[in-house]
Amino acid sequence: MTHGKQLLAVLGATGSVGVNTLEVVARHPDRFGVFALTALSRVDLLEQQCVQWKPRYAVLGEAAAAKDLQQRLRAQGVATEVLSGPRALMEIAAHPDVTTVMAAIVGAAGLESCVAAARAGKRLLLANKEALVVGGRLFMNAVRDGAAMLLPIDSEHSAIFQCLPEDRSAWPARIDHIVLTASGGPFRTRPPASLHDVTPAEAVAHPNWVMGRKISVDSATMMNKALEVIEARWLFELQPEQVRVVIHPQSVIHSMVVCRDHSVLAQLGTPDMRVPIAYGLAFPERIQSGASQLDFAAMQGLSFEPADRARFPGLYLAWDALKAPEGSAAVLNAANEMAVAAFLDGEIRFTDIHRINEETISAVLPTAADNASIADLLALDARARTIARQLIERVTC
Ligand code: NAD
Ligand code: MG
Repeated sequence: MTHGKQLLAVLGATGSVGVNTLEVVARHPDRFGVFALTALSRVDLLEQQCVQWKPRYAVLGEAAAAKDLQQRLRAQGVATEVLSGPRALMEIAAHPDVTTVMAAIVGAAGLESCVAAARAGKRLLLANKEALVVGGRLFMNAVRDGAAMLLPIDSEHSAIFQCLPEDRSAWPARIDHIVLTASGGPFRTRPPASLHDVTPAEAVAHPNWVMGRKISVDSATMMNKALEVIEARWLFELQPEQVRVVIHPQSVIHSMVVCRDHSVLAQLGTPDMRVPIAYGLAFPERIQSGASQLDFAAMQGLSFEPADRARFPGLYLAWDALKAPEGSAAVLNAANEMAVAAFLDGEIRFTDIHRINEETISAVLPTAADNASIADLLALDARARTIARQLIERVTC
């Protein structure tokens, strides 16, 4: 390990969170070195990042793409070794020289590398909410058994974490409940009757945040908030009813803790992922993030409204899944990943996403055996995907 520096593996380096992470890291060359960068398939961007950061390893999804990148880097005199496939991701995440893993892969595809990092006791910066939604208790057990330091990167969870004392054992006595804020996405005021005509381009155009396509669609359906409710349940060890949601269109308050005495602590800032990323990187210190400051004088006001069940039915699946047999959240997540991909590919309508999710949950009932290991959870995930796919095909024909 480079002496005194954190050495990072950025999993999902070419994505929105990955790129923001490298921007923060670039401001602090004295604190951080880059050991590995990974991507599924964006070879050109990963090549640029490797030329800039000269990591020891890079990982791509497919062997052919890895070979291509390896040749390109050699031609430029860059000594990075390029690997491929999910096993390489796990090895990088658990590599003894890595101190810090940024988990910024999207979807359940990131679960195994997250668990590998947790078991290896890394400082684990978790953006990949689906990994925790699917892994649930087993993920948290891996964090505990590996004595990993799990730091939330999702802005709402970072906000809650910033409002809580460092000593986790003080949390249960302190928290009455938490309130996750949601912008309401691009369709907060669109007539519900017109939602079935929403196009993928409209759905990914988020009013306040620039993000990857999948999470942008999830923000439009509010499934993103549903996943965040489940994520918060595990991160902060709360009962389902201790996690609440309010719509706050300005995205200035990133979330709140309501304490036992009903004092409310909130974290505020511009909607810029570099703030939670910088906090995760430097915790418990604070470092420059590059985000602009809030301008209170220019602010028009902060408003709040309840999340309308008719408009955002997907949100309410979170509490259903948390109260259903364990594993139900993994089923919900798998259905949603399939439905969002089908919507982005033009196969189903925006409003079909919720139907697919709801029908998949009804069709796939997890048992204790589905929760015995991470491999069992991934098998459950695969079963749910098969059912969701059948439902999608029924919609399209
Ligand atoms: P993105 O689509 O922009 O990037 C995803 C990254 O993961 C890319 O580098 C991609 O190459 C890689 N990837 C995708 N599928 C993979 C697979 N099967 N195997 C290996 N690598 C794979 O996504 P994003 O917006 O950066 O989001 C990443 C994660 O962070 C998601 O879980 C999202 O919910 C969460 N998150 C994102 C934001 C944000 O502002 N973008 C905010 C909060 C949480
Ligand atoms: Mg969030």
